[in-house]
Amino acid sequence: MSKNKLGRIVIVGAGPGGLTLARILQLHGVEVKVYERESSIDARPQGGTLDLHVESGQYALQIAGLFDKFQTLCRPEGQDTRIIDKSGTVHYEEVSNEMCFDRPEIDRHDLRQLLFQSLKADIIAQGHNLQSIQSLSNGQHKLVFDDGVTDTADLVIGADGAWSRIRPLVSSAVPQYCGVMIVEIQFTEVDDRHPEIAKLVGRGTLFALSDNKGLIGQRNGHNRIRVYITLRVPENWVAESRIAFDQPEQVRDDLLHLFADWDNSLLNFIRFCDANFIPRPLYMLPINHRWETQQGVTLLGDAAHLMSPFAGEGVNLAMLDATELALAIINADDLKQAIHNYEQKMFSRAAKAADESATNLDLCISPGNAAKLMAELFKKMMESGPSNDKENFVTR
Ligand SMILES: Cc1cc2nc3c(=O)[nH]c(=O)nc-3n(C[C@H](O)[C@H](O)[C@H](O)COP(=O)(O)OP(=O)(O)OC[C@H]3O[C@@H](n4cnc5c(N)ncnc54)[C@H](O)[C@@H]3O)c2cc1C
Repeated sequence: MSKNKLGRIVIVGAGPGGLTLARILQLHGVEVKVYERESSIDARPQGGTLDLHVESGQYALQIAGLFDKFQTLCRPEGQDTRIIDKSGTVHYEEVSNEMCFDRPEIDRHDLRQLLFQSLKADIIAQGHNLQSIQSLSNGQHKLVFDDGVTDTADLVIGADGAWSRIRPLVSSAVPQYCGVMIVEIQFTEVDDRHPEIAKLVGRGTLFALSDNKGLIGQRNGHNRIRVYITLRVPENWVAESRIAFDQPEQVRDDLLHLFADWDNSLLNFIRFCDANFIPRPLYMLPINHRWETQQGVTLLGDAAHLMSPFAGEGVNLAMLDATELALAIINADDLKQAIHNYEQKMFSRAAKAADESATNLDLCISPGNAAKLMAELFKKMMESGPSNDKENFVTR
């Protein structure tokens, strides 16, 4: 299809998925506009580290012409993994080869910045929060932003994450609580201020798991460590538990109480972290979420297949979706058919990852010695060779 016959393409959301899509379309001379609700890439802390898999996240960066730059930013050694229980007993340890680029880690902020900086300045409109979208009788869509700006598009791509405002155009599904809450904490300048924490977490990820709880520590770039305090609690736990998340010292005490029978070295995560505790309930869309192809609108990434991070696939899927959708648009003879083909492939791989993610979550945050169970699974996967599902396990 010739480029001017594609009409106006609008992407809502400048996460890793939306930015990858915009970048590849731009490389092929296809005009596109991206609307993002945040006013800048530094508007809020961007979260932790992400591992990009060869066949998805890294493949996307190859197609986007950004792989060389990525290699200068990523941390191959971040693949190290240790699994311990609440007493500190080590059940599994894997030290990665620094030259192995299977699953290198990159900070979410650095990845977004890499993609962001590769786009022409006028492609992205930041500080535009989509308020509503309406299907028009001619097949176009009208978008209304909360600052009064409007736009009309021939093709709208919802890359707007978990609580997508585009999703209701194609599906009535809504995210459901996974049963697990993360309280995110971090250590800045960790090597200087908390060398004992730096040593405990090491170069990669430490999983401390027992009794329906976890302390999952990740080495990030820029001298930081992020820890996910993970709890199997009801969705309304923050309100019910009356933990005052705006009073850090009170939160520290309350969380220490919850982990009272854990090894002292692990409690140091809670004792000494920076004074900022962010509760994040985990949500997921139904496994195998799908819809009938609609004229002029589709979804990618979390908007299409939100899942817990326990398959370590979310960003990889979002970037692969973006790549396949971009190539489908660029090569389309019949755009609706091309989008249909993209969606069918995306549905199948997302269903598999969502299933793994739910299974892994149930295994990791389970009663008793979950570390032992998880370590056994890792060992089995290691034994069965490199082409197995090891690469798809738990935020790795
Ligand atoms: C605690 C945690 C840890 C994770 N760890 C991993 C991991 O290790 N590996 C992994 O692969 N994945 C991980 N994930 C998942 C991963 O972060 C997501 O799957 C990924 O970011 C999805 O990318 P996306 O582009 O689809 O959506 P998002 O990254 O959510 O981006 C959506 C964008 O849309 C914007 N937006 C939303 N609504 C609007 C609106 N109304 N108007 C305009 N803009 C809007 C948002 O501001 C945002 O910039 C983790 C997630 C969490 C919560």
